[in-house]
Amino acid sequence: MRSPPEVRSKFLGAMVGSALGDAIGELAFRGLGEAALREEIARRSELIYTDDTAMSIGLAESLIQVGRLDEQHLGDTFRANFQREPWRGYASGPPTIFRLVERRGLSYSEAARSLFGGQGSFGNGAAMRVAPVGLFFYASPDVGQQARISASVTHVHPIGMDGAAVLAWAVARAVKLSPQDPFPLEDFTQGLVAQAQTSVLREKMALLKDLIAAGASPSEAAGRLGRSVTMHESLPFALYAFLRHPHSFEDCLFCAILHGGDRDTLGAMACAVSGAYLGIEAIPQTWREKLENRQYIEQLALQLAEMSQG
Ligand SMILES: [Mg+2]
Repeated sequence: MRSPPEVRSKFLGAMVGSALGDAIGELAFRGLGEAALREEIARRSELIYTDDTAMSIGLAESLIQVGRLDEQHLGDTFRANFQREPWRGYASGPPTIFRLVERRGLSYSEAARSLFGGQGSFGNGAAMRVAPVGLFFYASPDVGQQARISASVTHVHPIGMDGAAVLAWAVARAVKLSPQDPFPLEDFTQGLVAQAQTSVLREKMALLKDLIAAGASPSEAAGRLGRSVTMHESLPFALYAFLRHPHSFEDCLFCAILHGGDRDTLGAMACAVSGAYLGIEAIPQTWREKLENRQYIEQLALQLAEMSQG
């Protein structure tokens, strides 16, 4: 049975939107303002994505090939994609894990646990790539737990896993909401708080809820929520960008990437949710056409839609 057109549009919106958030976020490291950045996008013949999207592609490929999350297959897919394109801007964690798996015969999660003195990484890497999990399991009450499994291949610190669960839940919830209805802000922000299992992330989600309710400006929110490469200092501001601009993909994107910090990943996370909520039609056609590897990313999105447990 084919999934309905609106679901396919939302899957395309999440996958293409996240990749564009990554690619345009990477361009924003030049420190341009919105007008100059728009000109830069117009000048480019192609918008090139980074490790965030490379790993999101790997997650989609593994889900499609296996039909469920298999940690070994997922890790092997990440590793093969890294070895083919090591220049995508990976942080040091994944290549270190891949080496440990190859040379010492560890499982991916054992190798991931050996990082940072045995506590594992609480970087934002497991959330930046998690959109395919939120899509594939969008109708499942288990989406958060599935996201934690997908995280464990590289990020075993509780905060690193927690953020992946929160963002996957947000993507799944966004798929199920109609952008024609009023946005259920209270319900959505309460859901974010409820998904977080660590006190660090739960407190950040509660602060996010308060800042959105109080109409806090992006610069105030960025200062109080953070925007570094750690999970708890980037995921909350990415979600702020979406919640501040739920009805505009473009405004969400520029909010996420124009306040410094880990811009490509902030863009990838915010735009995964925005695209899942608004659908592919909300993303400017001229940007979509310039996305590197667009046809393949769209194909993965449509395969996920066909296979999702909707
Ligand atoms: Mg990146």
